[in-house]
Amino acid sequence: MIELHHVRKHYRKDADEVKALDGVTVEIGRGEFVALVGPSGSGKSTLMNMVGLLDRPDHGTYRLDGHEIDRLTADEAAAIRNERIGFVFQAFHLLPRTPAVENVELPLIYSRRSDIAGRGLEALARVGLADRAHHHPSELSGGQQQRVAIARALINDPALILADEPTGNLDSESGADIMALFQELNAEGRTILLVTHDPHVAGAAHRTIRMVDGRIADDTKQTGAAVAGDLAAARMEWVST
Ligand code: ADP
Ligand code: MG
Repeated sequence: MIELHHVRKHYRKDADEVKALDGVTVEIGRGEFVALVGPSGSGKSTLMNMVGLLDRPDHGTYRLDGHEIDRLTADEAAAIRNERIGFVFQAFHLLPRTPAVENVELPLIYSRRSDIAGRGLEALARVGLADRAHHHPSELSGGQQQRVAIARALINDPALILADEPTGNLDSESGADIMALFQELNAEGRTILLVTHDPHVAGAAHRTIRMVDGRIADDTKQTGAAVAGDLAAARMEWVST
């Protein structure tokens, strides 16, 4: 599904050049659940932006579902992004004075879809929040706000979900709930790429990619992912690949 080949992304900062991505080659197959870990500044968010078609490589190639991204126009890339990719962020990014259901329906409004009726409520039901549809974000807990953001990410039924530190602003219990939800979405066949600092959170994935200085330092598959609701107690078996 995702194929990056020698991808480089450098930023110029004053006189220095920052190698945000410094030759990343990786494949992620349909249905995988991958945790992306590594120190701050190691290139995780840059890689997520690349995979999510929000940015393009300076060098190297990126193929998504066989499409060579370099060859797409900006409009074509945007269409693929809207259809196939859902984004979830650490800070939720909900509109504060807008009810949950309208937050969830925003991507449909942006893509001028006419079949909006009921879709937001359906997506909220999927994340267990049908009874909070008309609450504003300030009337919801952090975990509930992140569920609303996940419902928004699901509204176009994406095959790929990109989540950048989705549990970073949550207490451990809400974080475990959110990870259990990601595990369900993965069990439905969705591919998930999730950035985290928390080894327990990473333990819910099937594979962990560790970045250091813009490169992949380690790529480990894990049999028997931890059950997110019981992460602390879970025994993890690591199989080096
Ligand atoms: P991470 O998400 O792992 O913390 P990032 O991908 O955000 O790391 O950043 C990788 C490196 O690239 C960092 O050194 C960061 O300062 C730099 N960087 C990221 N975005 C930009 C930008 N738009 N302009 C300049 N430097 C950037
Ligand atoms: Mg980051």
